[in-house]
Amino acid sequence: MAKRWLTRRRHPRRWPSYPDRVPDRSDAPFVPSADELLANNARYAETFADHDLALRPARQLAVVACMDSRMDIFEMLGLAHGDAHIVRNAGGVVTDDVIRSLVLSQRLLGTREIILLHHTDCGLQTLTGDELIDELEAETGLRPSWAMESFKDPYQDVRQSIRRLQVNPFIAHKEHIRGFVYRVEDGCLDEVLA
Ligand SMILES: [Zn+2]
Repeated sequence: MAKRWLTRRRHPRRWPSYPDRVPDRSDAPFVPSADELLANNARYAETFADHDLALRPARQLAVVACMDSRMDIFEMLGLAHGDAHIVRNAGGVVTDDVIRSLVLSQRLLGTREIILLHHTDCGLQTLTGDELIDELEAETGLRPSWAMESFKDPYQDVRQSIRRLQVNPFIAHKEHIRGFVYRVEDGCLDEVLA
């Protein structure tokens, strides 16, 4: 796996319409992963030991995080299987669908604490505004009903996300909401005070 990644990095390709955007390293021939992952899972299942985990998260915790592939939420926070709900999307943005998950998490499955996780070098920081939305509209004739939610400063966006939770009437438990920026450069977390 590591070798294939190195090969990709050696030949960076940039998106033609946005020369300053993050390099797309997918110029190597695309190979679907599902078959390999199925084999991995078969090995995983051989030693599966989580039979007795409860449906309710043991730490009564929900984490809202960016989907970034460099963040292993369980590993970076020292969480065990069954400890917490992890809700992820592009940016770790507090959208209506995140609220939907948190409502279920709190009201049905007993969580009482929310941790927000953004990070440095986020893909959403590479956008300058609604360019992707405009692009979609130009290509399809349809303007998406959702916002891309790009941001420049992940620290400021964590602050804003905490605020969104605090003012949301559907979030019942707001006493324990904290937000952090994960530094992909060194693995450390910076707390953002609202
Ligand atoms: Zn991100």
